[in-house]
Amino acid sequence: FKARWWSLNKVKTVCSYCGTGCQLTLGVKDNKVLTTIYDENQGFHNGQLCTRGRFGYQFVNSDNRLTTPLIRKNGKLVEASWEEALSLVADRLREAKASGADSVAGLVTPRLTNEELFLYGKLFRETLGSENIDHSAGFAHSALTSGALESLGYAASPSTIADIQKTDLLLVVKTDAYETHPVLGFEINLGVKRKDVDLRIVSDKRGKLSKLPKAKTYVHKPGNEVVLLNALAKAIIDENLVDAAATTVAGLDELKQTLESYAPSKVAEACGMSADEIKALASDYAKAEKALILLPIGLGYSGHGKELAQAVINLALLTGRIGKEGCGVLIMGEKNNSQGALDMGIYPTSKGKNAATIIDSCAAGTVKALYVAGENPVISYPNRKKIEAALDKVEFLVVQDLFLTETAEKAHVVLPACSFAEKDGTFTSVGRTVQRVNKAIKPIGLSRSDLDILSSLNGILGGTTYANASEVFAEIAENVPGYKDLSYDGLGENGQIIPVTTKAKFVPVAAAPVKAETGKFAMVTGSALYHCGTMSRYGEGPMHVCPEGYAELSRQDAAELKISENDMLTIKSTTGEIKLKAKVNVRMPQGVVFAPYHFAEQSVNTVTDGTPVIWVSISK
Ligand code: SF4
Repeated sequence: FKARWWSLNKVKTVCSYCGTGCQLTLGVKDNKVLTTIYDENQGFHNGQLCTRGRFGYQFVNSDNRLTTPLIRKNGKLVEASWEEALSLVADRLREAKASGADSVAGLVTPRLTNEELFLYGKLFRETLGSENIDHSAGFAHSALTSGALESLGYAASPSTIADIQKTDLLLVVKTDAYETHPVLGFEINLGVKRKDVDLRIVSDKRGKLSKLPKAKTYVHKPGNEVVLLNALAKAIIDENLVDAAATTVAGLDELKQTLESYAPSKVAEACGMSADEIKALASDYAKAEKALILLPIGLGYSGHGKELAQAVINLALLTGRIGKEGCGVLIMGEKNNSQGALDMGIYPTSKGKNAATIIDSCAAGTVKALYVAGENPVISYPNRKKIEAALDKVEFLVVQDLFLTETAEKAHVVLPACSFAEKDGTFTSVGRTVQRVNKAIKPIGLSRSDLDILSSLNGILGGTTYANASEVFAEIAENVPGYKDLSYDGLGENGQIIPVTTKAKFVPVAAAPVKAETGKFAMVTGSALYHCGTMSRYGEGPMHVCPEGYAELSRQDAAELKISENDMLTIKSTTGEIKLKAKVNVRMPQGVVFAPYHFAEQSVNTVTDGTPVIWVSISK
């Protein structure tokens, strides 16, 4: 950048990518974010940032930002005034509401601030009378935390980020924290190297964490995570390693009964591990004085999220690890404010539709108006063809976003929103810390903050309006459990952790082993640096590090299929086919192929269907 650092205005705020909640100092000049400034005194992470946090701000001043509202006229999106756009949106939402509250639905990104999410919920529940709201993580994170709600009495992780450094053994389930939550990856690294924390990893492929000293990685067959976790619980019971505290927790007998069919010897083959390996892992976990389970999860993982959370919580309860320092379970939501979205009630109640059923109802014509704020379902939800058909069918689609995304291109009205750098508010991290986000620059073009847009729309529709984030936060503090004793000004530089009170019970979870399809590869999807790509694909930094999608497979499979690095592969499933460049890597087990899901041009969700494993054929 072309400015001297001392001439920059420096604004402290919070990273808007993942749920780790790292603090940032933005260097600003002439209404542009020009850099991030390292401050070793900032945050629990001492100023360290990953590539996304360090360089990912570049999307803020991207030339591709939407700068004016757009309305579809004669099939084309044309520029419009805010007045025209908002009154059209209000009219169409009102009309849809008149056909019944079920005719209106909303999908909102958990990237918004708590205050914006709270207002989004108010607009739907109070003003439009609809319970049909969900966020993208409805496909992953909310499923996980709803598991926590049933097992522990609250929809959040029982542990905090600080527990990583205070434990004796970390059990990382499913994926690589270095990809989804890199600074948590650094924390794990520090714990292992400086504090001698033992590391166990169960995953369907090896990752960077597997290279750490003392790390033992157990590679299991994809889709069988819950079966494996149940087998670990069964081994703990059979080896008499159950903690005395567990006998006072409700549901232990039912759990023991369900676990009868999960003896390590019975399920080892389905898991792709030996019974001895399962027993050894169970014993290491149960015998450690303090043990913490990390469940880093993202949109790339759909399927049995709720059961996965409950199965790990069962393990922690069996060994008396909930509510103790350095112990428990840390559910690592993918997006910066996944936890806040749940706290603000951005999920359907029993009367409402979730993200998947909202899409089905758009396709069926029962949802007539869909309000998408910051989400890009065309790219980030499973089964792209189905999503596109549903969005093409809905009578009125309004999309509020920073960019003209693949979803916004289908909208009847597009509302230009502000980035995190242009707004005040709060985010809540995976460790339940509520932190202040601070405005660094004025809105780009005519864009408006989501809070401003939602407040105006709510006002037009007869609801309450709000002047600023602090006013909304005061209402949050009155209404949202856990936030009750918090005040906007009282959050301070490092934020505050929301307290939780546990009412734990064992929830037995049954899962049938996933059977392999002959001649097919198990395809798993996930993040490679970006998450869903809605922001990061507009920044040079991340795009320089990982510019395009790929399919990663093992050396053995590549040799058998005569595939070399960078060969163009055709990958086919029952829902569609895509072409991806081959990446051959020792970390992949045979029979498994991995692909990041966030690239629009190589849209992996063309071949996914919302289940944990997609069976695909691969050819050159
Ligand atoms: Fe941002 Fe997450 Fe990276 Fe921290 S780990 S800098 S919160 S993307």
